[in-house]
Amino acid sequence: MFLTISTSGSPDRPATDLGFLLHKHPDKAQPFSTSYGTAHVFYPEVSEARCTAALLLEVDPVALVRRGKGKGKGRGGAPDAALAQYVNDRPYAASSLLAVALSAVFSSAMRGVCNARPERAGQPLPLRIEVPALPARGGAALVRKLFEPLGWTVTLTPVVLDERFPEWGESRYVHLVLDVPDGKLTLSQALRHLYVLLPVLDDAKHYWVSPDEVDKLLRAGEGWLAGHPEQKVITSRYLSRRWSLTREATERLELVRLADADDTDVEEIDNAVDEESDTEEKPVPLAVLRREAILAALASAGAGRVLDLGCGQGQLVQALLKDTRFTEIAGVDVSMRALTIASRRLKLDRMGERQAERVKLFQGSLAYTDKRLKGYDAAVLSEVIEHLDVEQLPALEYAVFGSARPRTVLVTTPNVEYNVRWETLPAGHVRHGDHRFEWTRAEFRAWAGEVAERHGYGVEFVPVGDDDPEVGPPTQMAVFTQNDKSDTRVQDHKTAKGVRAA
Ligand code: SAH
Repeated sequence: MFLTISTSGSPDRPATDLGFLLHKHPDKAQPFSTSYGTAHVFYPEVSEARCTAALLLEVDPVALVRRGKGKGKGRGGAPDAALAQYVNDRPYAASSLLAVALSAVFSSAMRGVCNARPERAGQPLPLRIEVPALPARGGAALVRKLFEPLGWTVTLTPVVLDERFPEWGESRYVHLVLDVPDGKLTLSQALRHLYVLLPVLDDAKHYWVSPDEVDKLLRAGEGWLAGHPEQKVITSRYLSRRWSLTREATERLELVRLADADDTDVEEIDNAVDEESDTEEKPVPLAVLRREAILAALASAGAGRVLDLGCGQGQLVQALLKDTRFTEIAGVDVSMRALTIASRRLKLDRMGERQAERVKLFQGSLAYTDKRLKGYDAAVLSEVIEHLDVEQLPALEYAVFGSARPRTVLVTTPNVEYNVRWETLPAGHVRHGDHRFEWTRAEFRAWAGEVAERHGYGVEFVPVGDDDPEVGPPTQMAVFTQNDKSDTRVQDHKTAKGVRAA
């Protein structure tokens, strides 16, 4: 599989700068070994007026099958016959594997880093990209819809099945040429478009790709994906391919459904934040007090590796990053849009390498157990449980306390008793439209106590915000700490009863 990248030059900006931008010398043909075979970079054309770099990936079908099996998370996924694992279009068609090779071989260029010509990396240049065999699944119309909004002029030529037998008709591959005039795109942007859109046009569902794929998508999509009219198609196609191996089909469908329902989520979060700061009229908004209480509890638990479950737009992740005690931070949310906004807030793509190593964001639902949540010191669920249906709480309980089992778990949720103190909240109403329930202090303590007992944790309760003598604080926080094996303490809240499903 093959693609070429060409640029034209001018007297002050020779086309051969492409070699600097790609960090690959135009005079040499260089092989790079990648997980799926050998990638070669060479320049079929080099002059000051015009320069073309070619990336050729020689796929090793055996390595491909081994990788798919060996590293596969979860089930095998592909319904293909065994032979199809070896005999397929992978070696020829520009697929997700070419995208992987692109990012491996041109990683600095993709990040927009150019040591030899730093000023050039940020400058747009005229570009032509040619992909001789593109599996255009979704048809020519989709190819246009994907590339044209990004500034590319798209030229597509169908590839016939066999020139000797024209009556066989066209194959499902097209010859793609993308052109962009000077002044529109940088090389880094162009490479990031290809990195995301080649796999979108390929629907090979049977390759394992690493679980941090959401991070990669968000990074590569920074600056263009959020505003793309086909964002939904792009994200769902890009991610569904990965899910196929890591989730059972039903779980994947559920995530796709939730991801599709995203728009409302983020509006609701926005509203929630506004609501809180509007209604409160206090010097410090409740959301800030909550973050401070969480940070203090994490610090006193000595947690270094922290999960923010239902991280929303990433405010807590951002605060955690500022404190070097937190060495590894993962934000998880079911909402792709929330994650996109979080990634923008954190400036994930512009972060130095060291910072970037400390943080990741990924999509997941707390209604399912998830291996990626294991191995952390602490998990935070800040204003999340009330967004799940009461019937889903046992699943969340198992995912967090039964499977992930961090030593410390912090759960915050509104105290419904306090609602009478909000001036603008009519009596009998929850604080925000997406809350499925809001609990009294007794109800929260009863739930938390039972969860702690079932899973071998102790639990303490911390008020957040003004602790009203009559109705308690606006936010209630439970701090769960895993019992030491030898610890036989009996929890005093064992007797608390009566969780009321709202
Ligand atoms: N923790 C943030 C956001 C709270 S809003 C804060 O304290 O400000 C609730 C968040 O939970 C939303 O971002 C929503 O997308 C997420 N959420 C809802 N149901 C979820 C589920 N089943 N799994 C993971 N996240 C979920």
